[in-house]
Amino acid sequence: MPQFTSETPQLASAGSPAPAADTWAEDTTAQLPSFYSPQSQPARETTSDPTSASAPLKPIPSTDRLDLQSPIPTPAKDAVVPPPPSLLSPAFTPPATPGTPTPGNAQRLNSVSVDSTIPEGGCGTKRPRLLETLPEVQCIVRARIPTVSGTEMFLHLYTNNVDNKEHLAIVFGPHIRSRSLDAPREGETEMDRMIRGAYTGKLYPGRTTSRAAESEAGSAAAAAKPAGGPPLVRIHSECYTGETAWSARCDCGEQLDEAARLMSHPDNSAAGGIIIYLRQEGRGIGLGEKLKAYNLQDLGSDTVEANLLLRHPADARSYGLATAMLLDLGHPEVRLLTNNPEKIRAVEGPGREVVVKERVAMVPLSWKGEKGIRSREVEAYLETKIKKMGHMLDF
Ligand SMILES: [Zn+2]
Repeated sequence: MPQFTSETPQLASAGSPAPAADTWAEDTTAQLPSFYSPQSQPARETTSDPTSASAPLKPIPSTDRLDLQSPIPTPAKDAVVPPPPSLLSPAFTPPATPGTPTPGNAQRLNSVSVDSTIPEGGCGTKRPRLLETLPEVQCIVRARIPTVSGTEMFLHLYTNNVDNKEHLAIVFGPHIRSRSLDAPREGETEMDRMIRGAYTGKLYPGRTTSRAAESEAGSAAAAAKPAGGPPLVRIHSECYTGETAWSARCDCGEQLDEAARLMSHPDNSAAGGIIIYLRQEGRGIGLGEKLKAYNLQDLGSDTVEANLLLRHPADARSYGLATAMLLDLGHPEVRLLTNNPEKIRAVEGPGREVVVKERVAMVPLSWKGEKGIRSREVEAYLETKIKKMGHMLDF
């Protein structure tokens, strides 16, 4: 069995030698994204005089050492033991979506009208190969989710007849409802309907009917007729590494956060928003193959070449499920958040069942001079998206 030593704690609490240490604390911790919280400040604490070039390192207090031999100190019998720090500290409940700043203005939306029926319609030149018929989708459950930004969204979970994955629609705006969810099911009770989310208004303890009471019905009816035009829509493909594991190889996590921010902005409340979250990891090749592609990228390939070397198409994603889900949510006209003009026809479906009225650009935050992902890998990834995959960003 490996023996724990005091090496690791020593490094963690002492840091590098003092002169470099303070610079490191200034520069490096400030650059860390906010989800590395609380910020580590090990080096700053090693010297009281930042100008001193040769301040001696403080000895490591013995309580800092990881010593498995020493007994755990027990408090004296009558000593008052303070309670442990609350889990509800800022470190555990960040005030904003991790990784991105929340303030901003939806008015800055960089949108252009598009029309896929004419060549100069701003929808790229390629025609995606689409399945002839749309898949059948069914929303099986919906739930209200309060978010860290303070707004609420409704998570809709879908099943379909082409794969066994649980695709999601993240819906901003109470007026956007799923037809397949709201449709009555044989033999179900009012409680069944409320449990699967097919209710109007708000749930509260003791509620017995899925239909809202009179007073609520009025506001629900008002909410059902939005005057904000087509909703903002983002089609997002699952990216475990970028959304969950803090990867800076791509900008997926940032794009998902930015889409949610724009959709939940007060200026967008009348139109609402829908993020269709498709479970097609790694441009559709799966997480295992995506990790192999990362190794190929470290060996010198770009993201497109790596997929081709693994005998996968550069982009194996399909969007028929998204088209079907948008129709189920009652929105055949949308404003699409994307930099990829070829996504427009793919989302519109084989018979143009959904129509994209506007394309709204997603500018990487770091390019706008705001915080955002900055890494050698993400720059190369964005460059490949633009040069090889037809994404519309000024480079
Ligand atoms: Zn990604």
